[in-house]
Amino acid sequence: MGSADCLFCKIVAGEIPSSKVYEDDECFAFDDITPQAPTHILIVPRRHINSTDTAGEADKDLLGHLLLTAAAIARDKGFADDGYRIVINTNADGGQTVFHLHVHLLAGRPFIFPPG
Ligand code: 5GP
Ligand code: ZN
Repeated sequence: MGSADCLFCKIVAGEIPSSKVYEDDECFAFDDITPQAPTHILIVPRRHINSTDTAGEADKDLLGHLLLTAAAIARDKGFADDGYRIVINTNADGGQTVFHLHVHLLAGRPFIFPPG
């Protein structure tokens, strides 16, 4: 079950509205409320995990599923060939602000590397 005060657990549960992009038994994807690119989708596990820092062996398949889901959404939405950026921010220096692990899927413009 979700973490009581977790924003993304509430979004997954439908207690806070979101613009849903995709869902399955393991994950939920929705548009970021402050998009940093023409397409900016967040893919989150239904099961609460704080971050990659707290993920463990038991989460291995789920983490793989999040990445493959991002790739499938990119293919479905037609921007896979142009390209996209997958980002997972972790803890303070990584820029993580919501502590329910999430994959950012960004597309629709070129991205520089390294990021800021
Ligand atoms: P982080 O900084 O933790 O990697 O990413 C958190 C992301 O969640 C940010 O890009 C932010 O815009 C997004 N976000 C924060 N609150 C909400 C919300 O209530 N709804 C949606 N759809 N996105 C949110
Ligand atoms: Zn959560």
